[in-house]
Amino acid sequence: MTLGLRKIILLGLIGSVFLMANIVVVANWLSDSGVSEFAQAIRNNYLTGTAVTIIIALLILLVGPGKSGGGITGLIRRCPVCNHRLIGRGSYCSECGSKV
Ligand SMILES: [Zn+2]
Repeated sequence: MTLGLRKIILLGLIGSVFLMANIVVVANWLSDSGVSEFAQAIRNNYLTGTAVTIIIALLILLVGPGKSGGGITGLIRRCPVCNHRLIGRGSYCSECGSKV
C-alpha cells in the first residue's frame, strides 16, 4: 500500500521532472527557432501598422487644414445675390444691400 503510493509519487515526480525538462526544451526551441522570427514578424507588422497609422493621421491632419481653409474661405463670404465679396461681419451686402 505505502510502497505502491511511494511508487506512484516517484513516478509522478519523474513525470513532472520530465515535463519540466520538456517545457524547458520546448521553451528553448521556441526561443531559438520560432519565437524570435515570430516576434520579428510581429514587430515588422506592428511597425508597418504604426507607419500606416502615422500616414493616415498625417493625411487627416493635412486634409483638416484644407477643410478649415474652406472654412476660412467661408469666412470670406460672398453675397448670394451679386456674388460680391463681403468684408467684415456685416449682415448686409455693401454692393447690392441684400441681407446675407
Ligand atoms: Zn450683394
